Amino acid sequence: MKVPILDLNAQHKKIEEEINQAIKRVCASGQFILGDEVAKFEEEIASYCKVDYAIGVSSGTDSLLVSLMALGIAPGDEVITSAYSFFATAGVISRLSAKPVFVDIEPETFNINPFLIEEKITGKTKALLPVHLFGQVAEMSPVMQLAEKYNLAVIEDSAQAIGAQYKDERIAGTIGDAGCLSFFPTKNLGGFGDGGMVLTRDKKFSEKIRILRVHGARPKYYHKVIGGNFRLDSLQAAILRVKLKYLDEWTEKRQENGRNYRQIFIEKGLEELVHLPKAIYHPHLTPPPLRGRIEERGIRNYHIYNQFVIRVKKRDQLKEFLEENGVDTAIYYPISLPLQECFKGLGYRSGDFPQAERAAKETLALPIYPEITREMQGYVVEKIKEFYG
Ligand SMILES: *Cc1c(COP(=O)(O)O)cnc(C)c1O
Repeated sequence: MKVPILDLNAQHKKIEEEINQAIKRVCASGQFILGDEVAKFEEEIASYCKVDYAIGVSSGTDSLLVSLMALGIAPGDEVITSAYSFFATAGVISRLSAKPVFVDIEPETFNINPFLIEEKITGKTKALLPVHLFGQVAEMSPVMQLAEKYNLAVIEDSAQAIGAQYKDERIAGTIGDAGCLSFFPTKNLGGFGDGGMVLTRDKKFSEKIRILRVHGARPKYYHKVIGGNFRLDSLQAAILRVKLKYLDEWTEKRQENGRNYRQIFIEKGLEELVHLPKAIYHPHLTPPPLRGRIEERGIRNYHIYNQFVIRVKKRDQLKEFLEENGVDTAIYYPISLPLQECFKGLGYRSGDFPQAERAAKETLALPIYPEITREMQGYVVEKIKEFYG
């Protein structure tokens, strides 16, 4: 049996007609950058995420970069972020000649450990940049408390967590000063190319982003500040507007697939060997909203399962074995951020972030896309069982 890591064709086949109509509409309009489609898409995303302002930009990476630019992050400033994420999270900090200051993760959720942040705060710290990795919101209450105590901005990297909810409170990307979404094709809401969005409740901040998005110009050709080309294409917006209508349905399928995996792993007696993804909130910090396991509450979006990541021993051999048996898996990420070659100059060493380093050796993402069948999931788990004999 063949099980891909993601099957976008299966997803697009069902909405092909609608997407074609949207593309035709844009072609007929002759407007290919920003414009009406982008404005409407921004309104729809703002409403979906229950936030006041949403500004479409050229990618998830650029949504992070332009947010840091709007904060005025400058050379020598420090921005605190997770040691375990996609490269862009830290790359954007360095691109502004600021310094990424890393914090280790919580082993159960792979998100930043909120209890290790305070010791990293210095007089140069300007912002906190937590990541909602794999589709689950980081523990934000203590992050926001620290931000208030030390007067720091908070930018949420919500690239993998569109619509995920934090406790019974807000949606990912609307807790801090700004939230950053990505529409890279593998995200839960993926375009036919690059795209991103900045979310914010702050009108002034939203205006800054709008100006920075068009080279800092307002009006056109009068440049108040130095921005960049961070514009979203009309075609992407039109396609994403079609796909947004199906996002809840797809997310529910991902959640159902997550429950299926859990059940099948337990049925096969593998839950000791394979550490399944967990949703851990710290009950002593704020009361949990409802009783019961998070995935059993039936609430829309505690974990939107952009990825279903297990941790195992002999990960690389398992990955190879699954590959030989037709099962695609992925490693997010094979190396922690502080140990990336480009950050050598920061002076971090192996052993500084033990949980991030361990995750880099043990994590494996299994296919969880909405269209995967229960039979395929059964096959994946069966093969994992076979590998461990
Ligand atoms: C995808 C992703 C980004 C970058 O988004 P792009 O649209 O690919 O530029 C940033 N951070 C995280 C955690 C991501 O997963």
